[in-house]
Amino acid sequence: GTALDGKVALVTGGGRGIGRAIAERFARDGAVVALTYARNAAAAGGLVERIRTDGGRAFAIQAELGEHGDAHRLWAAFDKEIEQYVPGGGVDVIVNNAGETLYEGLETMTEEAFDRVYAVNVRAPFFIVQQALPRLRDGGRIINIGSGASRLAMPAIMGYGATKGALDVFTRNLAELLGPRGITANTVAPGIVDTDMNADWLRGNAEADAEWSTRAALRRVGRPDDIADVAAFLASDDARWVTAQVVDATGGVGL
Ligand code: NDP
Repeated sequence: GTALDGKVALVTGGGRGIGRAIAERFARDGAVVALTYARNAAAAGGLVERIRTDGGRAFAIQAELGEHGDAHRLWAAFDKEIEQYVPGGGVDVIVNNAGETLYEGLETMTEEAFDRVYAVNVRAPFFIVQQALPRLRDGGRIINIGSGASRLAMPAIMGYGATKGALDVFTRNLAELLGPRGITANTVAPGIVDTDMNADWLRGNAEADAEWSTRAALRRVGRPDDIADVAAFLASDDARWVTAQVVDATGGVGL
């Protein structure tokens, strides 16, 4: 495709899972893709190799999120690398995808676990966008990866769900703030997707797969490319008139 020709995209957590599928798709659509990872350098490096073999352009940045100064360090590393691809740097599409799950309800939650999941899922995207402002070109795109958990009551993971609700509010405000520059901000809200995040309870567990498939109108669990295709639309010029939306990509869970 050519939908993202000449564009630069940052995908956090782009080495594995949903972020990996988004990075692959954006590269196929012609973007220069900067993908970040925290610990799994092999996965991120492997994807960069594959994209390059397929004729695309990508590079990986190590960026641990959830610590003070994380966004500043991420963009400093980005600035160094992007020069080789686009003199003068800058970015057109930001995908805040990196996130952590937290299987704690109200009763068992600790303050430490609460702070951690907010720092990774909410604070990091907030400051990644703040620090992006001088780099983000007019007509750009911000895509936050939320969750069906901000729409559905799921008390067993309510701390995690609240982080995704916060992202929805962030998206709405970014749309208002940046709209005058032709920049859109949207959330994609996946349901259960078969990634490493769910591997321990979903992968190879026919019962869990059947249960979550039944909950979706489309009768299966999600695949990373189901989400990547939505992100690709939102990143493209076709979505220029869509902003401040939470695009449900759960396959119809909880209708
Ligand atoms: P995975 O666990 O498969 O991958 C997570 C990615 O995020 C990895 O690339 C990982 O980097 C990165 N990451 C995690 N924690 C940090 C951190 N502290 N600092 C920097 N990078 C980090 O997750 P998914 O692909 O399943 O999830 C991606 C997004 O989608 C998340 O925001 C998640 O909440 C959301 N989502 C997922 C659903 C699902 O069912 N899978 C459902 C709804 C929403 P590394 O490779 O280095 O470890």
